[in-house]
Amino acid sequence: TLDVVTFGETMVLFTSEAMTPIEYSHNFSKQIGGAESNVAIGLQRLGHSVGWFSKLGNDPFGRYIHKLIRGEGVDTSRCIYTDEAPTGIFFKENRSPTNIKVYYYRQHSAASLLSPGDLDEEYIACAKFLHLTGITPALSPSCREAVFKAIDIAKLHKVKVVFDPNIRLKLWTVEEARPVLLEMAAEADVILPGLDEGKWLAGRNTPEEIASFFGNEKLVIIKLGEQGAYYRFGNEHGYVKGFAVPQVVDPVGAGDGFAAGVISGLLRNESIPEAVRRGNAVGAIVVGTNGDVEGLPNKEELEEFLQGVRHADV
Ligand code: ATP
Repeated sequence: TLDVVTFGETMVLFTSEAMTPIEYSHNFSKQIGGAESNVAIGLQRLGHSVGWFSKLGNDPFGRYIHKLIRGEGVDTSRCIYTDEAPTGIFFKENRSPTNIKVYYYRQHSAASLLSPGDLDEEYIACAKFLHLTGITPALSPSCREAVFKAIDIAKLHKVKVVFDPNIRLKLWTVEEARPVLLEMAAEADVILPGLDEGKWLAGRNTPEEIASFFGNEKLVIIKLGEQGAYYRFGNEHGYVKGFAVPQVVDPVGAGDGFAAGVISGLLRNESIPEAVRRGNAVGAIVVGTNGDVEGLPNKEELEEFLQGVRHADV
């Protein structure tokens, strides 16, 4: 049995030469990008057992993704290969540290063909948590059905659902996204929106107001960037301060790291503020490192960070 099961699209990411327009870049570095696999890898490094799956194209990109995630120790046994569509890829162009453009080639990708029939009920039923993002339902109608089928399975078997909205308005319109994401939030046991996402979903302004919009029965944790996070569960609520980061190298992936840290804390039966603190710590470590998964700490690194035993930079 697994601690956490998650699924969604992971793509191969090609980054052009630093400060060079893509048109004139000769060299591209190859990495992977996917919110759910980031969380899976983050949790696995922290010592939990995690399953991640997707539909992959029967091509070198799909095999690269599969091997990389499996290489982290994540269970990928439920991944499915298809000949019907290619693995999604995307390109990142760093024109300057503040001008970063992303070009997606993911329409009609293999992952967008995921459908309810691809879910292994027993596999999900045995997990303690099912982690879902708001990206998956944006990929296609069949992906949307798969997400809600997975939620039904989780409910039936008392698996806790963690929902990270990850709003991507490049993938769908506001009118399409809002009701679907609100429905996912309503079904979830744990919701992890960023402040802007919370405002957008709840139509309210402060962390307190947003949390109360989602109701008392669920754990709502609102990410506040460098400030940390605000949580609310029933009558329990409060702010948990973030950690000071000497230099933000790459802000992308902080939210996924945060999710991994929080779920890890919950799996360890920590109190809510302790679990949030763990999320803050992983988020802070991730923004200090380039790449989405490269900076995700292992258990020892995280403990060291939490205890403040930071080695001096040489
Ligand atoms: P993403 O860019 O990955 O989508 P997000 O918008 O979901 O991130 P953020 O609030 O930016 O979420 O970051 C998630 C968590 O990471 C924060 O709640 C905080 O704990 C930590 N974090 C992010 N940025 C910083 C920072 N500059 N300094 C310290 N901690 C940070």
